[in-house]
Amino acid sequence: MSLLKKTGILYIVPTPIGNLFDITYRALQILKEVDLIACENIKHTNILLKYFKIKNTLTSFNKNNEVQKNNDLIKKLKKGNTIALVSSAGTPVINDPGYLLIKQCHVLNIQIIPLPGPCAAITALSASGISTHRFCYEGFLPSKKKSRCDLLHSLKKEKRTMIFYESKHRIIESIKDIINEIGKNRHIVIAREITKKWEIIYGNKAELILSWIKEDQNRYNKGENVIIIDGYKELKNINISEKIINTFTILRNILSLKQSVFITSKIHKINKNILYQYAIKKEEK
Ligand code: SAM
Repeated sequence: MSLLKKTGILYIVPTPIGNLFDITYRALQILKEVDLIACENIKHTNILLKYFKIKNTLTSFNKNNEVQKNNDLIKKLKKGNTIALVSSAGTPVINDPGYLLIKQCHVLNIQIIPLPGPCAAITALSASGISTHRFCYEGFLPSKKKSRCDLLHSLKKEKRTMIFYESKHRIIESIKDIINEIGKNRHIVIAREITKKWEIIYGNKAELILSWIKEDQNRYNKGENVIIIDGYKELKNINISEKIINTFTILRNILSLKQSVFITSKIHKINKNILYQYAIKKEEK
């Protein structure tokens, strides 16, 4: 039974971000049945089609030819052709070409049918262990240091969980900038190579994430990364006497956070959590 609805429809078809089995039955069916597949990289999409024994016509649609190709695809849609938009991996339009085409379809009343499917940002978020209640997607961090630092600085007090894409070439620099602009103690999760052989999801304080990445060349030379940053936690005003602060500060100069909190709490009979909150606030840049 055909899944295609009427004619002149643009289907948005997500494709796997690593594991070919992550394509849906419906996506395969649509890729088989449409008149044309507009794809970011013909070679790449051909691998997918070949694997699932799908034969169809492909046309390239990428960031370099997107503007010229838009009119061509719109003409075809208006003539009644059905087109599937796919990127090299994941959900088209999410940091991939397609936005202008879709905007034009809206203006011209051309029907768009999006299929649900893989997206690195959402897959990483789901496994991050960081609150998913409210989050913001920031795409790629700027490649220029100044713009990257400015953006991170502006996000220091963002309360929502933040999701970034990052290239292997800049992962170390970006984590260093996160430490400087957001704070060495902020909790971060790195989701690397999701759905692939070397998949790993690792979370820790920003400064420890940096040492973890540096430990293994593969972590900064290879692979794809999503960075998830915990949102800013507003700490209530903490009222601690000067006496307690002095004790804690002296201890903290020579002992670990845990030991300093423990001893201070014993000496002054103060709740450990209050001291932790004070310490986090003080130690976060
Ligand atoms: N449209 C895609 C999506 O829905 O996720 C994103 C395309 S964007 C050009 C590519 C970036 O997504 C990579 O540089 C990386 O940051 C992230 N990414 C894609 N696949 C990934 C994977 N398997 N593991 C981790 N990150 C991935």
